[in-house]
Amino acid sequence: MEKEKFYPVRRYIELQKKAISDSESFWGKEAEEIPWFKRWDKVLVWKEPFAQWFVGGTLNASYACVDVHLHSWRKNKIALYWEDERGNTKSFSYTQLHREVNRFASVLKNLGVKKGDIVVLYSPMIPELVISMLATARIGAIHTVIFSGFSSQSLADRINDTGAKVLITADFGVRRGKLVALKEIADDALNSTPTVKKVVLVRRTREEVKMKEGRDCLYHELMKDAENYVEPEVVESTHPLYILYTSGTTGKPKGIVHSTGGYLVYNYATYKWVFDISDESIYWCTADVGWVTGHSSIVYAPLLHGATIIMYEGVPDYPDPGKWWEIIERYGVTIFYTSPTAVRMFIRYGEEWIKKHDLSSLKILGSVGESINPEVWKWYYKHIGGERCPIVDTWWQTETGGIMISPAPGIELVPLKPGSATLPLPGIDAEVVGDSGEPMTPGVKGYLVIRKPWPGMTNGIYKDPDRYKEVYWSRFKGMYYTGDYAIKDDEGYFWLLGRADEVLKVAGHRLGTAEIESAVIATPFVAEAAVVGIPDPIKGENIVVFAILKEGHKPTDKLKKEIIGTLRKQIGPIATPKEIHFVTKLPKTRSGKIMRRVLKAIVQDVAVGDVTTLEDEASVEEIKAGYEEFKQMLKGKPKRKKVGKKQSRSNNN
Ligand code: AMP
Repeated sequence: MEKEKFYPVRRYIELQKKAISDSESFWGKEAEEIPWFKRWDKVLVWKEPFAQWFVGGTLNASYACVDVHLHSWRKNKIALYWEDERGNTKSFSYTQLHREVNRFASVLKNLGVKKGDIVVLYSPMIPELVISMLATARIGAIHTVIFSGFSSQSLADRINDTGAKVLITADFGVRRGKLVALKEIADDALNSTPTVKKVVLVRRTREEVKMKEGRDCLYHELMKDAENYVEPEVVESTHPLYILYTSGTTGKPKGIVHSTGGYLVYNYATYKWVFDISDESIYWCTADVGWVTGHSSIVYAPLLHGATIIMYEGVPDYPDPGKWWEIIERYGVTIFYTSPTAVRMFIRYGEEWIKKHDLSSLKILGSVGESINPEVWKWYYKHIGGERCPIVDTWWQTETGGIMISPAPGIELVPLKPGSATLPLPGIDAEVVGDSGEPMTPGVKGYLVIRKPWPGMTNGIYKDPDRYKEVYWSRFKGMYYTGDYAIKDDEGYFWLLGRADEVLKVAGHRLGTAEIESAVIATPFVAEAAVVGIPDPIKGENIVVFAILKEGHKPTDKLKKEIIGTLRKQIGPIATPKEIHFVTKLPKTRSGKIMRRVLKAIVQDVAVGDVTTLEDEASVEEIKAGYEEFKQMLKGKPKRKKVGKKQSRSNNN
């Protein structure tokens, strides 16, 4: 009886429920832990689906992440270690970071940036990216970081949605020993972004780049005349801190807005719970700052806590697969947070690379971005964590602003189950529901929803409140729809089962099938396209394109290459498909909707299921035959294979 009373799951759930039942006072208490200029009058004003957190409170994110530490022993502590693939390093103490942030804030002011203006950042993983984000926040402006793997078209679309006047970029990024010509990509985008009047260029290399007179300025030149101190702008808790674009089910990316107070409070609290973070932590999150994980886990949460962050520019296995383990050993990393894709890649390289390094500094391991398969979890636990470090499998989204479902060793370490993100964090009312919003019985698959507002939640989609309501709040009454499938087991543990909508997760990167399809259709010879995700042993999911050619075009490898080229140009290298199949028909419902589920089943070689609403069942057989043929080709077997009665009309050349 006594033992049962202290059973951690029960104790944790009790605490969790208490936080939900009295959520305003719970979050109010958490909010007291970050520095405010003025205390809030009201914890929450909730007009579904828009929440205003800590209303009446004022603060500044750059002050809370940097200035506050200058009043303590942390002022000479390292805030940021940076390293690149070649082993070049830089470090900034909190005092040095403060100086850089202030000086760049002064630069931005001199360029005419004011409170509420949007500043776009398109940068490699260099310290100037963190400095620019904090400097933007310091003057009350709003940053929009665009992942540096995105193409000129993606960059232009996002800049045009924001109407930003200033772009901060770099001459080059460095990846796998090669230069990525970011300024050239930015210049291409800038041809169609009339609002941008000033470009600030960080010199990452000594290579020559073209500069446009009157528009382009050099970061280091502007910094020469900068002031050492800029008073932090006092902003309301509800003032937007940033906009981050993410993919949805339509071709147009969504600008997810996060407010200052709610976002910071939520991230402060959750990093304490999930990572047990403290100012002694050496925290390394390997995500790119261009994604929400990078925003919260590289910049805001660890700095709020006065921890030391590691920022690495490069790929995991270059110059060799020992690079990451060497970094952990050299800096004494205590918390290591990465993606299942990266772990799966290291499994392939074997343990020899790991054994060469002392990883005993590690205390907690994290996983994010996609489900982690149980066998991958076990390998991570054994070979990286030395069977000593709990793995926190953290489920969250750009829209949630912070981690929602995860083990929380900072509160109570519940027994871990490989492959499950375990339980929702305190104050998070997560549920798995069926089609009419009813809670599912344990063990049955349903949709993951959140039934109560939480401080990290988005303020909506930039300039599109209706789309926000429609996408997230119309599917189930009074519930936030995540777009994910999940199962809750009989102990209340959550098992995430991938997306329920037309969104893919390729190596943890979020891409919409619709945006890939519209890029494929942009090639002059494609009439129609459908895109599906298929399981991939390393990337979790990979892209498969089905395309119908316009009259007069024959399927060739050259056309495939052109499609790949278009995808890389319109979206970026992350959208490079694994397979392209030319077909003459696509399975559609009678109302004309492409049945991607049918395509997916064919590609995965599983039962297609009910096709009674299909317009033309022949297309199923046809695609199936085409796919069989393709598989045979890969195996080097004879080309033709009969499927059922019909002979394939599709071609996979
Ligand atoms: P993003 O907004 O790009 O971070 O993508 C959010 C999506 O990533 C979620 O809706 C999930 O589909 C997926 N995701 C993130 N973390 C996890 C996790 N720990 N387990 C399973 N899926 C995850």
